[in-house]
Amino acid sequence: MDAPALPAAKSPAAAARIATPRASRPRGLYDLTLPELEARVGELGFPAYRARQVWGWAYRQLARDYAAMPNIPAAVRDALTVAAPMTTLDPVRTLTADDGETIKTLYRTADGQLLETVLMLYPDRATVCVSCQVGCAVGCAFCATGLMGLARNLGAGEMVAQVVGAAREARERGRALTNIVMMGMGEPLQNYAETMRFIRIVHDPAGLDVGARRITVSTSGIVPKIDALAAEPLQLNLAVSLHAPNDALRSELVPINRRYPIAALMASVDGYIKETGRRVSFEYALMRGINDSDEVAHELAALLRGRLCHVNIIPLNPVDVLPYERPDPEGIERFAGILRAAGIPATVRYSRGLDIDAACGQLRAKEEAIRAAS
Ligand code: SAH
Ligand code: SF4
Repeated sequence: MDAPALPAAKSPAAAARIATPRASRPRGLYDLTLPELEARVGELGFPAYRARQVWGWAYRQLARDYAAMPNIPAAVRDALTVAAPMTTLDPVRTLTADDGETIKTLYRTADGQLLETVLMLYPDRATVCVSCQVGCAVGCAFCATGLMGLARNLGAGEMVAQVVGAAREARERGRALTNIVMMGMGEPLQNYAETMRFIRIVHDPAGLDVGARRITVSTSGIVPKIDALAAEPLQLNLAVSLHAPNDALRSELVPINRRYPIAALMASVDGYIKETGRRVSFEYALMRGINDSDEVAHELAALLRGRLCHVNIIPLNPVDVLPYERPDPEGIERFAGILRAAGIPATVRYSRGLDIDAACGQLRAKEEAIRAAS
């Protein structure tokens, strides 16, 4: 997809106000695609190659500010400090678990909102779980983020800043960031334009260069946006949070199902598979006495039969104030066994046993889903 062209700016301050998702928040460096940065540098009266240099400093060297870009002339740095500021998120604190292999960062936005990002180090990859909204409007019955309602969408730059922060954390540990999952707070397909802008920025080969196949978009099932995603030129991984095989149950657990029921969702997923040739993942948070019976397992197998897909069974991570529980291990294995016997590839994703401060509860609750996707 082509990046939207920036209108001509009369001054650096005017340039900073252009293409702002909300009128009050200027687009910073992390909000811009490389062609947009080139345009902005040009508008400021400097040669476009300076944009590529800045891009390299920001995303290859992971420079924290313009002052840390020694081969960029001071005049360019000063102008960009106004026209494309680098400040986006303040890290409030960082917590580690799993022998240092799981690193969570709590960030504060410029307007005082709090959000979380998790970096997970595995032997073969390093995955960051990105938040795309503060809260979420979908309100799934078992999800801590859903309890909050939606405070606001995050801008692309606020998502990019999470990835840059995680890339720094990885580098400090001698590792490179390899994968991105959109499984933090929020519903990415209800913040579609900023999510796609974010993906184009982190995908750029001159910068962070995260391949499309290493980026997973997880959705509760926003059908028109799944259709839109299928038409994008990028071959992203799609994870659909199904959680139930029939409308009565799914509408209780995932309220958006009332607007986009299972038949419409499956038709949209089929379109995605046909268009992209990609295998789709179905996330299934298993809850005792809710969606874990043998009958439901058979119904799920019948629903998914014949589709290029994989089921990730995620034993629920209970949320303190919610009544849902995780089934016992035998129940979990039985459910998985029924799917497999019916020819549906299914993996049970057990928790890594996160044990970090309770304030990180929202992402703690999702850790298995994140692991399954990357
Ligand atoms: N809004 C998107 C992406 C963020 S949620 C979505 O719903 O897909 C990422 C995953 O975590 C989803 O599959 C979601 O259903 C799951 N999840 C949420 N709360 C959970 C919990 N308490 N236990 C296990 N998985 C949970
Ligand atoms: Fe929103 Fe996803 Fe949580 Fe549902 S599971 S409330 S869609 S973040």
